[in-house]
Order: sequence, then C-alpha cells, then structure tokens
Amino acid sequence: MATVREPDAASDYLPARMLNEFVYCPRLYFYEHVEGVFVHNRETVEGALRHAKLDDGKGELTPADELAADDKLHSRSVTLASETHRLIAKLDLIEVAGGAVVPVDYKRGSPREDRKTGELIAWDPERVQLAVQGLVLRDNGYTCDEGVIYYVATKQRIRVPIDDALVAETLAAMQAARDVAAAGVIPPPLVDSPKCPRCSLVGVCLPDETTSLRLHKTNGQPVQQTLFEVDPPLSAQALDRPAEEEEIRRLVPARDDLRPLYLNTQGLRVGKSGYVLKLQEKETVVQEVRINEICQLNLMGNIQITTQAVQALCEQETPIAYFSMGGWFYGVTHGLGVKNIYLRREQFRLADVPGFCLRLARALVAGKIRNQRTMLQRNHVEPPASALAFLKEMQLDAERAEAFDVLLGIEGNAARVYFQHFAGMIKLDDPIAPRGEAADFNFDFRNRNRRPPRDPVNALLSLAYSILAKDLTIVSHTVGFDPYLGFYHQPRYGRPALALDLMEPFRPLIADSAVLSAINTRMVTDRDFVRAGESVALRPEGRKGFFRAYEQRMDTLVTHPIFGYRVNYRRVLEIQARLLARVLTGELTTYPVFTTR
Ligand code: SF4
Repeated sequence: MATVREPDAASDYLPARMLNEFVYCPRLYFYEHVEGVFVHNRETVEGALRHAKLDDGKGELTPADELAADDKLHSRSVTLASETHRLIAKLDLIEVAGGAVVPVDYKRGSPREDRKTGELIAWDPERVQLAVQGLVLRDNGYTCDEGVIYYVATKQRIRVPIDDALVAETLAAMQAARDVAAAGVIPPPLVDSPKCPRCSLVGVCLPDETTSLRLHKTNGQPVQQTLFEVDPPLSAQALDRPAEEEEIRRLVPARDDLRPLYLNTQGLRVGKSGYVLKLQEKETVVQEVRINEICQLNLMGNIQITTQAVQALCEQETPIAYFSMGGWFYGVTHGLGVKNIYLRREQFRLADVPGFCLRLARALVAGKIRNQRTMLQRNHVEPPASALAFLKEMQLDAERAEAFDVLLGIEGNAARVYFQHFAGMIKLDDPIAPRGEAADFNFDFRNRNRRPPRDPVNALLSLAYSILAKDLTIVSHTVGFDPYLGFYHQPRYGRPALALDLMEPFRPLIADSAVLSAINTRMVTDRDFVRAGESVALRPEGRKGFFRAYEQRMDTLVTHPIFGYRVNYRRVLEIQARLLARVLTGELTTYPVFTTR
C-alpha cells in the first residue's frame, strides 16, 4: 500500500483544527495559531488522549487512482494537504466504500439540536473542520461528498453533507482567518459568551476583565483612561457603571491546585523515574513527588539535579529556580515557553520611550506607597497619623513626578518612613522566645539594611523579596515577556528588571506581610538564625518555616479591586502581568495597578 505524501509541516498551510478554533472564537485562533499559546484543560487532555489512541494507525491511505469500486477500507490518522487551498488536516478515520471516501472526526461532546427542526446536527466549528477534511481529500483525487462527526460522549454518528454551501462557508472562514493572522492584531474577546468558561485559554485571555477595561464608561461617555492612573480613577469610576455591567465573571479557578516545591536540604539529589521526581539523600530516597503536581521547583543552595529530571520538567513547562544557600536568586531554567514574539517586540520598543516608562513607573511606585500605607493602617499596633499622612502625600507626589530621579527620591522617602514604623507591626508578646538562656537574636527592627542583611528581620525581608522576584520572573516568562527588560528598573546584567517593576506594589502586600506573619505566628523564631561576620542568615529549619508563611500568603484569597472577584495572590500576579501585556500590545490603554483598601 502506498503512503500518501505528508506535506511539509513548516509551510504556510492552515490546519483544519485552527479553522475550527477560528469559527469557535477568532481570538482563540489568534492565540493558538499566531502566538503559539496553548494551555491544557480537562477537555484538551481528554481530546489528546483520545487522539493518541486513534494515532495507532499507520497514516496510510490507498491513492485515489488505485481505489477499486468494491474496496472497503478503514484508514486511521492520515495527514493530507490541499495545494489549491493551502489547507492541511489530520484525519482521525477515513472510511472507504463504493469508490468514495468519508472522513470521520471524533469529538468528545454531544451534537446540538436544530431549534427549528429538532434534528441533531453538528456544531459549526466541527462542520467547518470536517469540510476542510473533505476539501483536502478532494484535492488529492478522492470523491468525498459527506463526512461524519462521531460524538464519543453520546456514541452518535452525525452525517454532514460537504455541499457547495458548506464549502463556500469554509473557504470564507479560511480567508477571514488568514486576514486576521496577516493583520497581526488580536481580535477582541467574546462578550459574556458561554463559550469562555469552557475555553482552555480563559486564564490567558481574561475575556470579561479585558472587555470591562476596554468598554469602561463614565457619565454615559466612553473614555480612554489616562494611562496607568492609579487611584482613584478606575475603582471609583467603576461604581458609575450600570449595575448589570458590574458583575465580572471569575472564569478561572480562584487558586491553582499545583504547588511550588522548595528544596532546602544541602547535598540533596533530584532524579526522576517516569513522571515522578525522586529526592535522594546519599543512597536513600527520602521523598517522591509527581511532576504534574508541582508548578515550580526551587533549589536552595547545593542541590544536584539530573539532566533527565531537568528535561522532564522543561517538557512539562515547570520552571526550576536556583538560589544560593542564603536565598539569593540566581536564575531559572524553563522549557521553550511562549513563542509570542509580538509582545517582546513591543516591550523592547516601549522600553525606549521615556514618557511611557515614566508613566508606568509613577503608577507602580504610587501603588507601592499606597499599599505600604494600607499595611501600616491595618497592622500597626497604633497606626501613626503623621506617617500615614506623609505616605499619602508621597503617593500623590509619585503620581505627579516629572522625572525618574524625582520618583526615586519620593520612593526612598516613603520607604524610610514606612520602615521607621515597621517594628510596630511586629506583635510578639515577648519578642525573644523564652528558653531560659540569653538569646543570640531578637526581632527588634530599626531600619532596612541589606547586602548583607545584619539582623533577623532584614534577613527575612531579603529572602522574601528574592522569592517574590523569582515568582514574578517566572510569571513574566509565562506571559511571554523578557523579564530582564524593565520600564522603571534599569537593565543590569542578571537583574530581572521587569519582574522588579511588577513587584513594586506587591512588596508590602506579599513579601512584608509574609515576613510579619512568619514572626508573629512564630513560624520562624530567634533560634532559626545564624551569624557569619556581619551577615545574618536563616538556618534550613527557619527557611522552611518562612516558605510556609510565604506560601500561605500567596494562597490567601483577595478581592480584586477592579474586577471584584476573589482569587489568591499567586493568580493575581499572573492577572496583573497579563493586563500589562495588553497595554503593551495596545489592546488596553489602562493598567490598573493592584492596590488594596
Ligand atoms: S476565553 Fe472566550 S474570548 Fe477568550 S479565547 Fe476563549 S472563547 Fe475566545
């Protein structure tokens, strides 16, 4: 049996599956076909498993001119292309009978009912995908007048005539899809669509959030928000919208089931067997962790990892982050990641536009100062009125700063006053854990010092900022940014400047808060520190306690100030990075810096 020639995968053929996505939602098509973004959800995993079974076929099909009228054949997993239309399709099953061929496409769901006739029919995206299969078969010399969708859930075959009307509809969709790709502008999200909750890319697309920011109205007039206004424009104006517009659906889970894994024991070795990481101390396996249950692997200090484990984690797009023993963040290994060059191109272009950089920097710094003020208000044993007033003044000054050096000065002044009162948020009854002997360390805090940190609170703060920078570096990669090119923080070798930019408003809310919680709930005690020269660092047990406090904070549900739904901080980081990406690519003109009340 001859094998039908497979087309060159690197050519510009439009895949049938992508035309299905285009008809379902042009934005989904743009993400997958143009930007190369793909995310699995339950539906896509089930689909992949189903196709893996079907792919058992040899991909062979008797050439059209060798088919006999009485041939009855089944061919599975055949890839064919149409030179005429520049279309390509992988066909699950081709049934050959009576000299004609019928493509059979497997789908997980169920058919829909025609509203007028009550007849069971196939969904539009599936009809179009099947028509592409018919077209590529015809272009290869076969007679193909109909196809079949086989719905796995209901075990039903639905026949689809590939007639002139469907062919015309398919070719029009094909042209529209090509035009969208050529224009290079992402189509807007569907509005309030029931398709979105089922879409695998809903967490990337943020349809309701994007629509809300795009269509934002005040006093009945559409307005383009001034770029990056921080406070109060977006949250206050949101109240002007009609009540029915206020509800924004939370279409992504509030928290992720995957957890970061921190390894802290010096000399540990990470290997893998199948899809399980094996953590070994000398020859003994001390722990086993499924790769698909973690979202990142953090190696603190001298921990070895095998090439096989690195490869498996890269394949799974699970980043590996490296720290020194003291918590200094060195870098990340990750898979091939997002192939979205358009975002990076805009990031590089806008990083050279001083006005853009300054407006964004103003908003980020003002947001941080506002959050510092909120921290003192909420957590200080006796919130100092003069400091709160000063921080309010600094926030307003930051929003108006006319140059970077002015902004840096404002940021420094705000930080000085905030840290002057930081000790008032440490609420240990007895700051030194009782143990009947003189303590080497305590949680007295006078000022912020670093490189090296010279007391326990500063050691905790440095570690917290380092881990948060790592998390935002990973988020930046995930979204498709270059984390090393920022708008406020200047480029410096090895410095994840964009991650540091994004981190500004979250320093008080996540890092400082995790430090306070670690101390106040005694997850870390004065025994957990060690001094080397001037420097104070955490012992392994102390680091473990701090990671617990940090992860608890990351997992805390918080109400998004603009969208009004509750998500954990880990999700918030990604949402904010994705919104910034929208601003860079021009889809949004407003970046709502994250602040809490
Ligand atoms: S979430 Fe909705 S708008 Fe966004 S890509 Fe998916 S279907 Fe389209």
